[in-house]
Amino acid sequence: MMNKEEALVVFSGGQDSTTCLFWAKKHFKKVVALSFLYGQKHQKEVELARAISQEAGIEFHVMDVSFIGRLGQNSLTDSSIVMDEAKPEGGFPNTFVPGRNLFFLSIAAVFAREKGINHLVTGVSQTDFSGYPDCRDGFIKSLNVTLNLAMDEQFVIHTPLMWIDKAQTWALADQLGVLELIRTKTLTCYNGVMGDGCGHCPACKLRREGLESYLATKLK
Ligand code: ZN
Repeated sequence: MMNKEEALVVFSGGQDSTTCLFWAKKHFKKVVALSFLYGQKHQKEVELARAISQEAGIEFHVMDVSFIGRLGQNSLTDSSIVMDEAKPEGGFPNTFVPGRNLFFLSIAAVFAREKGINHLVTGVSQTDFSGYPDCRDGFIKSLNVTLNLAMDEQFVIHTPLMWIDKAQTWALADQLGVLELIRTKTLTCYNGVMGDGCGHCPACKLRREGLESYLATKLK
């Protein structure tokens, strides 16, 4: 029997998935966090994820799926490639790991099923669409159907950030009472700098612009 009161969060220790972790904590009795080692350059994000889970009193697991990084070339896992500072015209940014969310969510579903959990939570967003096709709503809905058919289960994939932008994600963090925690203890930066980050990579820019825009509306 699946437990309707428990959820599994795909958790990287970044701004988005940390917001989702606390969103899940509010909406479910029990939350389990799952992080992936996929050969990313900044493996300390997994340690940050573990620390945040501990602080939040959430059961934490890590799964090593580093073969994903070896399937193709991308700048998140290959230290000889410099990460794109801007999205190239008409192509994928070189931070794109093909099929990453497909793998992560499929593995998370099998893992959740073993624990009798059918609610899955992921921080993907179509709004700040960075060129990653497996962050889009159509893909998530399609995968949800596929997972149910594949395992004859009733998984529900929750995407609390799908239609909100970075400023609204900060607003949600604030509502959940974790704005400062997310601001100081998460890692979003492509250059591996915690908290406010390096300041110039695309992830930092998006994060900072969102925060500034949220704080500006809050002051009004
Ligand atoms: Zn950065």
